[in-house]
Amino acid sequence: MKCRLCGGNDLSLYYTQGSEDQFRFYKCSRCELVNLDLTGLNLIEHQEKYATEYLDPDDPFINRGSLASYQFIRRHLPKPGRFLDVGCGNGALLAAAQREGWNVRGLELSEFLAQNVRERFGVEVDVSDFLTWRPTDSGFDLVSLRHVLEHLPNSLGAMGSINQLLRMGGHALLEFPNIEGISFNVKRSLAKVGLHKKRYADSWRPGHCNEFSRNSFRYLAEETGFSVKVWETYAYSPIKNFLYNHIPIGTKARVLIEKIETLP
Ligand SMILES: [Zn+2]
Repeated sequence: MKCRLCGGNDLSLYYTQGSEDQFRFYKCSRCELVNLDLTGLNLIEHQEKYATEYLDPDDPFINRGSLASYQFIRRHLPKPGRFLDVGCGNGALLAAAQREGWNVRGLELSEFLAQNVRERFGVEVDVSDFLTWRPTDSGFDLVSLRHVLEHLPNSLGAMGSINQLLRMGGHALLEFPNIEGISFNVKRSLAKVGLHKKRYADSWRPGHCNEFSRNSFRYLAEETGFSVKVWETYAYSPIKNFLYNHIPIGTKARVLIEKIETLP
């Protein structure tokens, strides 16, 4: 197989998942992307089901992730502008930004969630897949995509879409797993020597098809007209979060990139 990011063909088996180790992830020696071998897999079947419950956007525990994302935005982009949250969920991130002067808009796959966010916050939310959504008024100052990138086979296409939605000099906030996080590394090492084996139900299917590290994400960003401004890792527990913000070894990455080039 070829690497889905750089097209390289020097890939080696990195780890497996599933009850019979049937899901195989290969790491590219050139760009370091970890690629799930999609041969014979039906990805649509693997993705999580749409939400049927509207989680309270005012609950600080439920929304700790969105609140942390907003703190990050505020720290790095103190001047509000036009903000699009792709996959806005219950709207907690949009609401936090709106309270501080951002002009916000949401995009959601679920009409149920979209309708709840419209009613609760009076925010415009379109129901669409961002890969095909083309508003007449793009040129956003900020676009966020949290815990989506790793689910999409075509990461170059996804980043190309974000590029088109932004103005030149605009920013994107992305969050995704950091496959080189220390606890992932420890688990993989233990699995190799047979000391740690995660059990999977027979029906278990992987949700992620591309796993990024600092290097492979930088490769992706630079190929699609972006410059990486901030790369940090985070956790929900305050002590781990403090540590991982300062030493980027956490299993979740939060990045800020700037559009420096319009793609042809
Ligand atoms: Zn590659």
